[in-house]
This record gives sequence, structure tokens and C-alpha cells, in this order.
Amino acid sequence: MRKKLLTLLTALLILLSSAACASPAQPPAPAISSETLAVKAITDLPEDFILGMDLSSVLSEEESGVKYYDFEGRETDVFKLLKDCGFTHVRVRVWNDPYDQEGRGYGGGNCSPARAVQIGRRAAQYGLKLIVDFHYSDFWADPGKQTVPKAWQGMNLAEKTQALYAFTRETLRQFEAAGVEVTMVQTGNEINRFLCGETDWSRMQALLQAGIKAVREVFPEALAAVHFSNPEKAGAYREYAKRLDEYGVDYDVFASSYYPLWHGTQENLAAALSEIAETYGKKVVVMETSYAYTADDSDFFANTVGADSAAAPYPFSVQGQADAVRDVIDTTAHISDGIGVVYWEGAWISVGGASWEENHALWERYGSGWASSYAASYDPEDAGRYYGGSAVDNQAFFDSAGRPLESLKLFLLLRSGNTVGSDP
Ligand code: CA
Repeated sequence: MRKKLLTLLTALLILLSSAACASPAQPPAPAISSETLAVKAITDLPEDFILGMDLSSVLSEEESGVKYYDFEGRETDVFKLLKDCGFTHVRVRVWNDPYDQEGRGYGGGNCSPARAVQIGRRAAQYGLKLIVDFHYSDFWADPGKQTVPKAWQGMNLAEKTQALYAFTRETLRQFEAAGVEVTMVQTGNEINRFLCGETDWSRMQALLQAGIKAVREVFPEALAAVHFSNPEKAGAYREYAKRLDEYGVDYDVFASSYYPLWHGTQENLAAALSEIAETYGKKVVVMETSYAYTADDSDFFANTVGADSAAAPYPFSVQGQADAVRDVIDTTAHISDGIGVVYWEGAWISVGGASWEENHALWERYGSGWASSYAASYDPEDAGRYYGGSAVDNQAFFDSAGRPLESLKLFLLLRSGNTVGSDP
């Protein structure tokens, strides 16, 4: 009798556990209510217009346990979802060696060449093309810092130029070998004032030319892009383009970051980029943009944009986010030879812990925050002091549980628009 009871109990337990396995994990109750998105159609948006998403932190997010869901609530590969939502390209940054001497990642996705290739392979799996973003640094490069990679420290310009050429060629060959369709390569990231430790244009241009030479050799069909930021600074883009022209830098695309909160009006952006497109016969791209759908933080690490942000040109709402991005696409598409817009890190959401301590452990272990404490040896002033999580989780196209926001439907509605108030 007792044995029979045990057998029954065991059978019941097996039944219960198999039922648990069979049912998909359900994310917690929605934090964002479903909104009906209103999209005004963009006239004459070219069929081949680039709609890109930077996904550089996605591997670290997944390794930290982040899951993404489709609009029906089913777990999905975020690359597939983006393809289904109308994206054409993925962008990925490449850092030379984002690890300390003990092999611990600096964070920000630990975007080594090998991991960038992994992201490229995932993109290719779903028919998404790739934009490669070389920082020529072991960690973040932007207008505030362009630290030379550890392995290139102490090199003279000729040595560094050769190293940069060889690194670019070798890395791109890895993408090629993995079957990744690389259609654009940027040699440097937001190189307003300096590149790879160099501040003089005569030296910067030598590095740019070396990188572009490697791009032409490995992917002759790909576009070579140079990438700057701060279009709101009067005359700055004119000056960069003039320098590039004077030195005969052989590039195809003048790319700009454009964050609506900080980078001036879209009219100004259009004027600055149009001038370069028309004067020098270049294509132009908005290589980074994003906008907040909420003022709230969700991962216990402060965001770059929040309730105290001044003069927000759109409300911090799901509709406000969609409107901002829609308008940037509209603006760019109507610049002569404006060929695309790339959204920055739209899947960099909370790693899901219930406290800073829980999240911190994941950021440190998997590199899913903007910087780990291990980056201090390379970047003591910034990462060494302010390491932590995602500063843009409120600018993602997913809520903190990985469910897509209504605003992600924007990209399928750009050409048709929809009727205000109807279900898109
Ligand atoms: Ca945050």
C-alpha cells in the first residue's frame, strides 16, 4: 500500500514537472500597458533605405539571462524579431582587446573581434546585413576618449598605421569566413577630435586611410564610413569634411550620431549633412540615434536620460519614442543621398535582478553593464569610477522583461503609416 502510494506520488511529481517544462516561461505582468501606435507615413522612403539596430551588447545580455519575446509573448531570437519588424541591418562595435590581464571583460558587451563575428553570424542567420564599427581601442571610443589599444601603446605612427591596417584586414576576414554580409565599415567611432590616441589631422588621416584600404581589400562592395558626432556644433562637420577632402581620404559615407535631446534640431542636422553630401558627393547616414520611452530606470544604474533631462523635444513615452525615431528617419531620407538610420542599442535592457547587488554580479561576470570594475586598469577616470549597468534601458524597444514595445511596430509602418486610433 505504502509502495503504491509512493509510486502514485512519484507519477504525480513527474507529471507536474513535465507540465512545468512544457509550458513556456511566462514573463511577469506587463509594466507598460499596450498602446496603440500612431504612425504618419514617410513619403518616398527608398526601398533600400538602411534600418539598422546596434546590438553590440546582446551576447552579454543573453549570457546574463535576458530573454526576448515576440508580440504574442513567445520567447524569440531578438535578431529574428527585428528582421520580422522590418530591420535590414545590425551594427556591431569592435574593440581590439576588451579584457584585463586575468582575462576579465571590461563590459559593454565585451565586444572582441570574435564576439563581434558571433553577432554577425546571428544577423546573417536571419538575413540581416552587418555594419562593422571599429573603435580602434580596447574599450569605448567617443569624442571624450580615444585610448590606443594596449598592444599598440608605444608604437610610432608608421607602426601603428600598419598595425591598424593588419587588424582591420584580419578582423574583416573573420567576418567574411563566417559568411557575414558586411555592407558598411566605419574606421573609427565618433572621431571628432582624435582617433586611436592621435589628435593631429595629418596623423589621423593616415590611420583612416589604412583602415579604409583594408575595407576595400576584404569587402570591395562595402561602403567605407567615417563617423562623427555633435552636428549641433556650428561649422564642425564642414571642417571635418574639408580635412578629409584635403587629405584625399577615400571614404563613401559621412556618418553622424544624432541624439535628439543633445544634438540640436533636425533641420540643423539636415543642413549640416546635406552640405557635405552635395559638396563632396558623399552618402550620409545617421549612425546612432535613440529616444526614451520612459523617464524611469529599471536596472539600478542611472540612465543618461531621465525626468531631469532638459528640453525634451518629444514626450518620454512609447508614442514619443516612435515619433522621435520616425522623424529622424524622415529627415535623413530626405537629405540628398541620405541612405539610412541606425538605432543605438535598442535591446540593452535590465539584466533582471531585484537589486543592484544582483545585477552588479551579472554585469561583472558577463560584461552586460556599460563597464565592469575590471575596466579600471584601462580606463581609470571613467569606467574605474562609474562602472555599472545599462544607462539606456529606458531607450530600448523592449520593456524590462524583454517584451517588445508597441513602438517597435514603427519600422513596419514607416511607408504605409496607419490611421490614428486604429489597431496597427
Ligand atoms: Ca539603467
